[in-house]
Amino acid sequence: MTRTTFDAIVIGGGLVGAAIGYGLQRQGLATLLLDEGDIAHRASRGNFGLIWVQSKGLGAPHYQRWTRGSAGEWPGLAEDLRTRTGIDVRRQQPGGVTFCLGEEEFEARAATMARMQEEAGNFGFEYRMIRAAEARDMLPGIGPAVTGVSWTPYDGHTSPLHLLRGLHAGFMGLGGTYLPNAGVTESNAAARDFTITAAGRRFNAPRVVLAAGLGNAALAPRFGLHAPVVPERGQILVTERAENILPMPTVSLRQTAEGSLMIGDSKEDAGPDTLTQSPDIMRAMARRAVLCFPWVAELNLVRAWSALRVMAPDGLPIYDQSGRFPGAFTANCHSGVTLAGAHANRLAPMVAAGALAPELSLFSARRFDVRTAA
Ligand SMILES: Cc1cc2nc3c(=O)[nH]c(=O)nc-3n(C[C@H](O)[C@H](O)[C@H](O)COP(=O)(O)OP(=O)(O)OC[C@H]3O[C@@H](n4cnc5c(N)ncnc54)[C@H](O)[C@@H]3O)c2cc1C
Repeated sequence: MTRTTFDAIVIGGGLVGAAIGYGLQRQGLATLLLDEGDIAHRASRGNFGLIWVQSKGLGAPHYQRWTRGSAGEWPGLAEDLRTRTGIDVRRQQPGGVTFCLGEEEFEARAATMARMQEEAGNFGFEYRMIRAAEARDMLPGIGPAVTGVSWTPYDGHTSPLHLLRGLHAGFMGLGGTYLPNAGVTESNAAARDFTITAAGRRFNAPRVVLAAGLGNAALAPRFGLHAPVVPERGQILVTERAENILPMPTVSLRQTAEGSLMIGDSKEDAGPDTLTQSPDIMRAMARRAVLCFPWVAELNLVRAWSALRVMAPDGLPIYDQSGRFPGAFTANCHSGVTLAGAHANRLAPMVAAGALAPELSLFSARRFDVRTAA
């Protein structure tokens, strides 16, 4: 690669950076995607693969709207990637359920869903609370501990690794430049004029997008931005392949296109540690899965891992543009699979145009500024 001047530089080759890079390149912008090497924390390679809408945005209806918008972009994104790259990202969006074990969980879930609908206003929010007897017809094999489920038509799942591969292949197929083992070492910011040093080389562009996951916390201040993200560890269990019997994903258990069951929606504050897993959490996850579907107890676990979510203090995404250095943007979220459609199809065109749309102003990190909040 000899080129050093680009229309845009995206820092971070995870799901967020790759989706935005893909979208920018599709807009006709010559884009450089800089990525660290294998030492990097990469939520994008350790996640659960849900395109999940139903519990997003309680108390923050703008987040529900953005998430739903992204789920709506997903069929087009998956088809676009398949056509351009031949990679099938195994998207399925048949709706999804959250299990309730016991009356108390069912009542609490019903209250949450009712509030989601109320907060959605005219935008609407379709859901049903379904008792176990009826849920059994939807999801055969449900155990007696299940009181019922919440259901929405918006949810789905995909293969996150095929998605990441598809976005990278799509990006490069469109002429994008990907540079791995290229952690940013130096940067110089001026309005619409950025110089970034990585892998011992200097690159220039009038636009830069910080999409480095947890790395954004350190990068953002260099560009007059703020990204107070911290790690939240999640653990995942994978079973051997089973008969294809789960017709839709649930928030804590889904069946992959290949037949394995993935189990997991744990959340822990464990700092930057992804090397260890906690048997107590793994046991609790497996136990809940067996209570939901007793037949799962017969399956062998074949893999388990932990990975770090990228969390803002309120759990919502951060999308920002620098007031001091126009042309610099941040993008962080804890649902990079779900939001891939919005990142590629909606956010990237905003970056290309040079400014975020007003609908994203509530996602600015200025919401964490005490003076702004006051
Ligand atoms: C256990 C678990 C389950 C999850 N389940 C789901 C789910 O079901 N659905 C869903 O939507 N989301 C889920 N997520 C969240 C999703 O995986 C993340 O939102 C998404 O992967 C974040 O992508 P990212 O690109 O921001 O970060 P990452 O994947 O962490 O990537 C960041 C990238 O930035 C690069 N980088 C960092 N610093 C620098 C630097 N200085 N210079 C250059 N490059 C740099 C790194 O190399 C890395 O490639 C889950 C996450 C976890 C951990």
